Amino acid sequence: MRLENKVALITGAASGIGKETAELFAREGASIILTDVNDTEGETVAGTLGDNATYIHADVSKDADCQSMIAHAESTFGKLDILFNNAGIMHSDDGDSESTDEGIWDLTMNVNLKGVFLGCKHGIPALKRAGGGSIINTASFVALLGAATPQLAYTASKGGVLAMSRELAVIHARENIRVNALCPGPLRTELLMKFLNTEEKKQRRLVHVPMGRFGEAREMAQAALYLASDESSFVTGTEFTVDGGITAAYVTPE
Ligand code: NAD
Repeated sequence: MRLENKVALITGAASGIGKETAELFAREGASIILTDVNDTEGETVAGTLGDNATYIHADVSKDADCQSMIAHAESTFGKLDILFNNAGIMHSDDGDSESTDEGIWDLTMNVNLKGVFLGCKHGIPALKRAGGGSIINTASFVALLGAATPQLAYTASKGGVLAMSRELAVIHARENIRVNALCPGPLRTELLMKFLNTEEKKQRRLVHVPMGRFGEAREMAQAALYLASDESSFVTGTEFTVDGGITAAYVTPE
């Protein structure tokens, strides 16, 4: 097992990438703290993982919640080795600079960017107490590419996650703490599919993906597993893209 004796905290673990990762990490021997704002689903997922998993409500945009989720990890399992700052939102009223309201901007930044900051603010001292560890922050391919179908606040928040991850990686490199950004391509999860809700909209997006399909949450979980495990012991500060080739493409196959 690739995560034996490791303790991992995953935010946004009730759905999509977070849920698949919690299930995979548990199969690989880790103890898991699942957190989310969707308590019903979060409790359900944790319940399927047995005694080595626990759920706690944590809104990542709130300092007190992030503080208590880390404390919960240490009091339940004695330490924290892996922190997966994964929770994120994509708001339907997020558009271009003229159409996006300040409130949507603030909400998106608070969850997607401040949420990662707060996770690190409270998580890094715990990783230090454990003698080091691995942080994975979910950014996105939109941190690397611009789109004519704009979601400006979302894109800016993910660019911030990527830049912050790089800097944290450098700051903590000699403390045995690795920090990497995971940059998924477009995925077949609730977050994106609620927008791409017709075949035409799906195809309009897929034309840009060399592989010609959406990614699956479990494919992100596999990438997170590599970054979480000691197999990636010399990997830090990366923009780890798992995107079906979208960021490599200029012209895609017919
Ligand atoms: P998802 O909607 O299936 O899961 C996101 C989870 O985050 C949900 O369970 C939700 O309840 C939770 N959440 C929302 N706000 C929260 C908050 N304030 N505090 C704690 N939890 C909160 O989406 P997903 O596709 O699994 O997305 C996971 C991450 O991947 C997000 O950061 C997203 O931006 C990123 N991402 C997704 C895609 C994609 O195409 N789906 C692509 C690139 C990056």
